Amino acid sequence: MAVKYRKCSFCGRKDSEVGLLITGIEGCICDECASQAIDIVSANRVAKKPEGLKDLPKPKEIKEYLDQYVIGQDDAKKAMSVAVYNHYKRLNNPGAVDDVEIEKSNIIMVGSTGTGKTLLAKTIAKMLVVPFTIVDATVLTEAGYVGEDVESILSRLLQECDYNPKEAERGIVFIDEIDKIARKSDNPSITRDVSGEGVQQGLLKLLEGTVVNVPPYGGRKHPEQKFIPVDTKNILFICGGAFDGIEKRIAQRLNTHVVGFDASRNSAQLDKSNMMQYIAPMDLKSFGLIPEIIGRLPILTHLEPLDRKALRNILTEPKNSIIKQYIRMFEIDGVKLKFTDEVLDYIVDKAVEFSLGARGLRSLVETIMMEPQFEIPSKKVKSYEVTLEFAKTQVEKANMSVLRERNE
Ligand code: ADP
Repeated sequence: MAVKYRKCSFCGRKDSEVGLLITGIEGCICDECASQAIDIVSANRVAKKPEGLKDLPKPKEIKEYLDQYVIGQDDAKKAMSVAVYNHYKRLNNPGAVDDVEIEKSNIIMVGSTGTGKTLLAKTIAKMLVVPFTIVDATVLTEAGYVGEDVESILSRLLQECDYNPKEAERGIVFIDEIDKIARKSDNPSITRDVSGEGVQQGLLKLLEGTVVNVPPYGGRKHPEQKFIPVDTKNILFICGGAFDGIEKRIAQRLNTHVVGFDASRNSAQLDKSNMMQYIAPMDLKSFGLIPEIIGRLPILTHLEPLDRKALRNILTEPKNSIIKQYIRMFEIDGVKLKFTDEVLDYIVDKAVEFSLGARGLRSLVETIMMEPQFEIPSKKVKSYEVTLEFAKTQVEKANMSVLRERNE
C-alpha cells in the first residue's frame, strides 16, 4: 500500500496513537475501531428481522428431499411435509384475514426407537435452514426440582442461533422421549409426580405459544445471567416417542386382537406395525399424556418398524449413508473402498439377529472397519475390498454384548 505513514481509515489516528493497526487491501483499521465494528455487527444481527422462507418448498418437494435421507416412513414424511409447509406458510402470512388465523400445528411422531424420528426432524430443519435443537424430555423436571426446567429447551435453541431471539422464534425444537413424561397412571396421583404431569404442564405453555424469559446459559449455575424473552408462538415443536406397549391400547380400543388379518405373515413385528397405523389421540391419553398436551400436538403420525429390506437400504441408499461415508473417507486417502453385497447382507443379518435396529448398522460397520482404517493408510494400495470372510472374523471377534450396549 502506497501510504507514507499508516493510519486508521476509520478514526484517522496514526500508527503510533493506537495499540494495533490491522492493514487491509485498501486501508487500515485500529484495534478500537475493529472492536466497535464487532459490536455494531452483533447488535445488527440481533436487530435483523428474520427473513422468513421466501421460497417455501411445497410439501411434495419437502418429501422428495426427505426421501434422499430417510428410508421408508412414507406416512410420517407426508404428515411432516404438510405440517411444516403449513407452519411456515403461517409464519410468512401473519395475522388474521377475515378473522381466519391459521393455528400452528405441532407434530407428534410415535414409533419404536431407531426408526428415524430424530432423523426426520433433523433433515427437515436442515432443508429449511432454521435453528434446530433436540432435547430429551427425560431430563426435564418440574421447576425447582433436580433436573432441567422446561425453559432450558429454549436456551439450547438460542445457543443454536447465536442468542438471536428473532431467529430462535422461527426454529424447530425436537422433543425426544416425550412418552417418558407420561403420567404414571391414568388417575391423577396424590403423591407428587415430579417428572410426569408437572413437566407436561410446563411444556404446555411452550407449545401453546407464550413469551418465556429464557436463561441464555440454561440451568441455575449462572444466577447473574440476564434473561432473554423468547416468544414460542412461531416455534414448531416436533415430539417423538416410542410409546412402548401402545399397540395393546390401540388394540383394546379397537376391541380387536393383535393378530389381525395379516397374521398369515406370522410376524409379530408386522402385526405391531399394523396396529400402530390406527393410532389416535385417545391412545396417547390412555398412555398418560394429558389432554391439553395432546390438543397442542394436532398432527399425530407413526413410524413403521424397519424390516430387513429397509435396513439394507439404510446402509447404502441415503445421501450420507454410512457406507457412502466410509467410501468417502478412504477416497480422501486415495483408496477405492468396496463392500461386496454379501458383506452388506451379512451386516443386516447381524443387526436383525441381535435386534440392533438401524443404529446397530453403524456399530457393526465400525467394528468391521476398525482394522482396515488402522492399516490401510500406511499401505500403498489403491483399492480395498471388504470380503464376507473378513467381516465375519471381525464381528465374531467383537463382543456382541458390547455392541448391543453401545446401541442403548
Ligand atoms: P429415533 O429418533 O426414531 O430413535 P433416529 O432417527 O435417531 O431414531 O435413528 C438412528 C439412526 O438410525 C439414524 O441416525 C440413521 O442413521 C438411522 N436410521 C433410522 N431410521 C432410518 C430411516 N428410516 N432411514 C435412514 N436411516 C435411518
